[in-house]
Amino acid sequence: MPHPEPLRALLGPDAAAVRRALTDEAGVSLPAFVDHHVHLHLVDGERLPLGGVAAVVDLGGDPAILAGRAAGTLPQVTYAGAFLTTLGGYPAGREWAPPAIVRQITDASPQIGRPGGAATAVDEQRLAGASVIKVVLHHDRPLPEDAVATIVETAHAAGLPVVAHVEGEGMTRRALDAGIDALAHTPFTERLDEALVARAAAAQVWISTLDIHRDDEQAADVARENLRAFRAAGGRVVYGTDLGNGDLPLGVNPRELRALLAAGCDVPALVAALTDPWPGAAPLPEVRTFLRGQPPRAADGADDPTALADWLATASVVPGEDLLPDLDDEAGNADSEDDDD
Ligand SMILES: [Zn+2]
Repeated sequence: MPHPEPLRALLGPDAAAVRRALTDEAGVSLPAFVDHHVHLHLVDGERLPLGGVAAVVDLGGDPAILAGRAAGTLPQVTYAGAFLTTLGGYPAGREWAPPAIVRQITDASPQIGRPGGAATAVDEQRLAGASVIKVVLHHDRPLPEDAVATIVETAHAAGLPVVAHVEGEGMTRRALDAGIDALAHTPFTERLDEALVARAAAAQVWISTLDIHRDDEQAADVARENLRAFRAAGGRVVYGTDLGNGDLPLGVNPRELRALLAAGCDVPALVAALTDPWPGAAPLPEVRTFLRGQPPRAADGADDPTALADWLATASVVPGEDLLPDLDDEAGNADSEDDDD
């Protein structure tokens, strides 16, 4: 092996040296990469596997269209269905948000079947096959607390986690108070205090979406520092780009990975964020991520996290059965590593 350090120290416990059976290319295998925040109605999602993304979580789309997608094709799609928001609330009326992807809640009743009902809207998404429920907590026009409570209660009773779009003063606190399981964006409008970050780290998954702020220095700073604190407090960060929001690459976004490094993530944390199966429990079994060649290093042989992040963005999606263990390499690893598994 060209590099003495084991792959797993560089890339985390799931990295393995492999050779492709079909092409005999050598490289590194990792579990399937997931973009945990996309909007498929705004992009050509079928191209994502060419860019290394095997699975996506659609966090705001037409539940009927999402339910009709063919199973077993790539990318694998799990979804929230429609945004649940208040009457006239974000994102209702936005150009990119047709009526089919928004449900305006006017009734907090826990009774399913009421028009505009909070429980009705959750049940509609559940019946369409949603794996998570998306709710909007926007300071301009937040969903009333009793409606949020009904949504969370109804979703949890059905075994579905709730993810929130949180924007504006006090909205992260409201999300935590309401028992919301995940944030669709790292909070970007206010710096959270230490106690709130600690509560979030204990209770929530945060979807990164740092690169959407690349033209807004203030939002970028706030999000980066919140994410740094969340990670330091032990919080679970998953990779997500909000694909469909502005000009983003159709595949692994190297700018998102670099932004995660700048927020204090190391390279194994990037891999963990990319391969986290949230909201599912296990990675896609049939496919793996393939990275051609050896992990890059700085000219002096030292680790180079930025080069590694860029290399991760060259990933491709391959069938698991196409990858064979690279035996020469396994031997090299075994010599230089303690028996840690
Ligand atoms: Zn989004």
